[in-house]
Amino acid sequence: MTQERGLLLVLSGPSGVGKGTVCAALRPRMTDLVYSVSATTRKPRTGEVEGVNYFFKAQQEFKRMIERDELLEWAEYVGNFYGTPREFVDKTLASGRDVFLEIEVQGALQVKEKYPEGIFIFLAPPDLNELRCRITGRGTETEESIRHRMQVAKAEIDLMDHYNYVVVNDEVEKACERIQAIVMAEHLKKERQIAKYRELIKEVNI
Ligand code: 5GP
Repeated sequence: MTQERGLLLVLSGPSGVGKGTVCAALRPRMTDLVYSVSATTRKPRTGEVEGVNYFFKAQQEFKRMIERDELLEWAEYVGNFYGTPREFVDKTLASGRDVFLEIEVQGALQVKEKYPEGIFIFLAPPDLNELRCRITGRGTETEESIRHRMQVAKAEIDLMDHYNYVVVNDEVEKACERIQAIVMAEHLKKERQIAKYRELIKEVNI
């Protein structure tokens, strides 16, 4: 039987929404997923291990990776570069295993361009009231600052439109359950099931 490609799962969302925490909580729950290790020019934090948390690169090395087209996507985030090594993702998907990326939004949009068939999950802040408070502040903000906050919030919401799913991160455990449900449902889609049944029928057809 032909090997079915794995799913490319991309978890992204606004900064500070808790992508890293949700991803860390998913790892022991979803052990069948292959978690891509990014390259970064950021310095390792205490306890971080080369090749496990990140591939830590000098700026020059990172630029060489870009030039050689070794990155599926990359972005500059708070003064550091982050990128997803392409070959690992391609090989893992081709082997039939699902790959999970946890990346910021500029990178997610680049992946969407290259892999429109990927599953894009937007991790959203807990509730709309909080969003309203963030926008209007404590009532002491100037009109201009409120307008600026509204623009930022609108841009974030417009971004959602590029994704397939929105998962609210109200509680990490619940967010994980929702992501597990998405992955399960994606695997059960008719499009992923029917080819193997058709092949089986062909094989037994006399
Ligand atoms: P941190 O420095 O806290 O580990 O990560 C900072 C941000 O970089 C997080 O929002 C994380 O999702 C994002 N990030 C990590 N790896 C990648 C990557 O390979 N590509 C992109 N675009 N963002 C990444």
